[in-house]
Parts: sequence; C-alpha cells; structure tokens
Amino acid sequence: MKKRVVILTGAGISAESGLRTFRGNDGMWEHENIEDVCTPGALRRDPKRVKDFYNFLRKGLPAHKPNAAHLALVELENRLGDEFLLVTQNVDDLHERAGSKRVLHMHGDLMKLRCMSDASHEFSFTGEETLETKCPFCGGKTRPDIVFFEEVPLYMEEIQDALRECEEFVYIGTSSVVYPAAGFKSFAKRFGAKVTCLNLEIPSYDPDTDVFIQGKATEVVPEWVKNFK
Ligand code: NAD
Repeated sequence: MKKRVVILTGAGISAESGLRTFRGNDGMWEHENIEDVCTPGALRRDPKRVKDFYNFLRKGLPAHKPNAAHLALVELENRLGDEFLLVTQNVDDLHERAGSKRVLHMHGDLMKLRCMSDASHEFSFTGEETLETKCPFCGGKTRPDIVFFEEVPLYMEEIQDALRECEEFVYIGTSSVVYPAAGFKSFAKRFGAKVTCLNLEIPSYDPDTDVFIQGKATEVVPEWVKNFK
C-alpha cells in the first residue's frame, strides 16, 4: 500500500532511554575501534571478539526501556496502519518493545543472528553467541545480524519504493551523515514528499528539509504526532 509517512530513526531516539549514540560525547565508538568489532575483516580475524561485543550489547538491552518518542510512533502507526513505515538505523529493540509492528532494521537487529552459509537464514536470538552456535535451519556458522561497515544495508528496495511514494518523510534523532540513510531525504524530496526533521541539533542550511523541529526526542516527537493530520 502507498505510504503516507515514512519515518527514519537513528541513535538519538534511543538516547533518552540511556543508549549511547554513535558520535556524541561518550559515543559508542570512543570505547571500541570500529575496525575491531564492526567490519567483515574483524569477523574473519577474531570472530570471538566480534561476537562478545554484540553479546555485551544484547545483554545490556533489557535494562533500557522504550521512551515517550518510541511510544508516540506506535500511536501514529495505530492511526495510519499500512500507510505507515518505520525504518530504523538502530539495532536495539526499543521500537518493537514499544509496540511498533511495521519496522525495518536497515542496519540489522541485535536480537537476531544470521547464518554465514545462507544469509536468508536469520533467527531471533536472546542468549550468548559463541563460536559453536549453529544455524537452526542448516547447521551453518552464525554471525550477529548487524550490517558492518563496508556491507550493504538491508531492505533497500522496499525502502526506496516507500520513499518514492510517500507524502511525508520524517527523520528523527539521526545525524544524517551515514549513507545510504543520509540520502533518503533528498530522494524522497525529489519524488515530491514533504521532508521534516526532528533532532536535538539542526543544521544551519539544508535545502532538502522543509521543516525543522529542534529538541529532545521525548518532547518533540509526541508533540509532532499529536499535531499530525
Ligand atoms: P548519530 O550518533 O550519528 O547521531 C545521533 C543524532 O541524534 C545526533 O544528530 C544528535 O544530535 C541526535 N540526538 C542526540 N540525543 C538526542 C535526543 N535526546 N533527542 C533527539 N535527538 C538526539 O546516530 P545515527 O545517525 O543513528 O547513525 C549512527 C549509526 O550508529 C547508525 O547506523 C546506528 O545503526 C548505529 N547506532 C545504533 C544505536 C542503537 O541501536 N541504539 C546506538 C548507537 C549507534
């Protein structure tokens, strides 16, 4: 079905749930080297270190709860049904735990593993992944369902179709510097969508964005949803 609204969320929507953003002060990558835990080369060189890093993040997730911004997007989805699509760059499960159903994790999902022999074999996973963990479908080796640097994000065709057809594209809590997600606003705009940004920091100039709403996600997202017509 043609989408009225496509939402893109980034690390900023989960910041007030206590999850670190990517580039901010005390950002995730100030504590780990991307090359050690988030590249295909790292997985080849030292799979245990890579798996342990994502085991650590997965184990910590239940302590973080969805916030008012995640919940407001559920309210909007309940109003719009199939005319709504949520694309997230986040690998946390806070949108799902808030109650969102139509969610695409374009950078993967911490709560899933993928088979290394057949990428179509993905499955929910809550425990500790080890070198011995096996794919339940074919017995192959597994890896975290995380899109590493140098890898192609997931669901790109579906996302592009939705962006081409939507009336409004809204990006929330993302610095809009990680491609291809950073290109969604200009793509949607080119096909006629209104483009809205809700973020803590806003750029001084951005010709692709029609409306900027500056503030904390837990404050501006519920307000924006309340006023959405
Ligand atoms: P980013 O860290 O590059 O940008 C975060 C943006 O959120 C910034 O522009 C910042 O101003 C804004 N922000 C911070 N606190 C906010 C708040 N309370 N309310 C509203 N906005 C706020 O993150 P990104 O653009 O998502 O790109 C980073 C990549 O890192 C993504 O690909 C994502 O997969 C990954 N990541 C995910 C998580 C997660 O799953 N929670 C956490 C960190 C990084």
